[in-house]
Amino acid sequence: MTQLLIGGEWRDPVAGGRREIRCPADGSLVATVAEAGRADTLAAIAAARQAFDEGPWPRTPAVERGALLHRVAELIARDKKELARAESLDTGKRVVESEYDIDDVAACFRYYAGIAATDAGRVIDTGRADAISRIVHEPLGVCGLITPWNYPLLQTSWKVAPALAAGNAFVLKPSELTPSTAILLMRLLEEAGLPAGVANLVLGAGPEAGAPLAEHPDVDLVSFTGSLPTGRALMAAASATVKRVALELGGKNPNVVFADADLETAVDFALTAVFLHSGQVCSAGARLVVEESIHDELVDEIVARAARIRLGGPFDPEAETGALISAAHLAKVEGYVAAGLAEGAVLLCGGRQPDDPKLAGGFFYLPTVLDGCRPGMTVVRDESFGPVLTVETFTGEDEAVRIANDTDYGLAGAVWTRDAGKAQRVAGRLRHGTVWINDYHPYVPQAEWGGFKQSGIGRELGPKGLDEYRETKHIWQNIDPHPQHWFRP
Ligand code: NAD
Repeated sequence: MTQLLIGGEWRDPVAGGRREIRCPADGSLVATVAEAGRADTLAAIAAARQAFDEGPWPRTPAVERGALLHRVAELIARDKKELARAESLDTGKRVVESEYDIDDVAACFRYYAGIAATDAGRVIDTGRADAISRIVHEPLGVCGLITPWNYPLLQTSWKVAPALAAGNAFVLKPSELTPSTAILLMRLLEEAGLPAGVANLVLGAGPEAGAPLAEHPDVDLVSFTGSLPTGRALMAAASATVKRVALELGGKNPNVVFADADLETAVDFALTAVFLHSGQVCSAGARLVVEESIHDELVDEIVARAARIRLGGPFDPEAETGALISAAHLAKVEGYVAAGLAEGAVLLCGGRQPDDPKLAGGFFYLPTVLDGCRPGMTVVRDESFGPVLTVETFTGEDEAVRIANDTDYGLAGAVWTRDAGKAQRVAGRLRHGTVWINDYHPYVPQAEWGGFKQSGIGRELGPKGLDEYRETKHIWQNIDPHPQHWFRP
């Protein structure tokens, strides 16, 4: 059984809990791992606190912290195949996709290795000879990192790499469904020479193993990626200790296609936008917002191609996408499709599990297109987080923008047109944190990632991603102190 990492020791949980991890594609047993309770997370917080307050890491020169992150990136590249395999067994994702993800993980560590020592602060010209004034950055302290199951190691790395670059200690609580690559990452951090106690790992369910990270006064930041309801609960819990809160939440992302777009490319990317990883992507283009005059042409082609998408397990070379993460998640997706149909949507394809007996052991769901949708319908408003595309129509730029912005979320979106001016105008008016023009899904570690509105608070990646993990302090020094006699002596 895989244990918890607390204060540099791999330990069994206090209450002896354990959990079986099963592959969502066929139900096979992947691993048996420790299941932490509150007592284990409290011990991990104490260990991280001690490592931060008394250990060498926060005082390690930033260039040395960067060098360690470079070593971690090299170890991730060395173990790419093993990491990708573990990620695919936990998630059911195609192994080629997991290999792309592991490349992105290594790139994330390399990026933060590179910027760890930059922007060390600045000196402000006070205009006086008797005083100097400096702005410096310092690590926050203990970071509680809570991550989801859809891109397990990538989402974890977006937090672990900047947290370490800034000099913090952390307690990581990965999704209870997909812990395997977090365990492997901890071993790589040890191999790279990270001091004991800086990285702590607790595995288990959110309300027990995760909740103390938001509540405890010794945690300085809770950085969470996951669903909106959990994010709201964590934000409320964190308020008692006024700790820093960083939230990367869901999205209900519009993919806006104008009549003057390159339609062949728009169709191709509309499929990738929503059906990649069976729609279990925070930035999935789950809302197709299409100009009325090309609705039939565009939607007919999307449906024809969606119906041909091949589902399969992580190591099936013919598979184009995989299973949903769990039985509970499959039931949730089915519920959203049922709600859409009850509220007037028209089913054009999918809407059920596949017939193929080879897929019967997994949580597969056919790529689904629902036409005749409107803002406000449950399936348009809420994140189904499955392979479900809703279709809404518009006429003209203003209506396109109004529909695309008619959501509580604001994570990402795309606009398709050959008119460069219209592309920039519409992109500028979309209230979403990332907007792609004539593209969908690319990201670069140099650019910030994060949502408007209820998609989150704060940013990951980019230089601002590092700022989430450090304090900024103003140090004023009077270098010629003497009495001022403001009041007569
Ligand atoms: P989730 O909210 O169910 O769980 C996320 C994590 O929170 C898990 O580790 C879980 O154990 C933990 N958790 C649950 N309840 C908790 C509690 N009371 N206290 C502390 N921790 C708790 O989300 P999920 O289903 O794992 O992930 C899917 C969601 O993540 C989607 O909404 C998706 O959009 C979002 N997501 C967002 C981004 C982004 O960059 N914005 C990226 C990936 C995923």
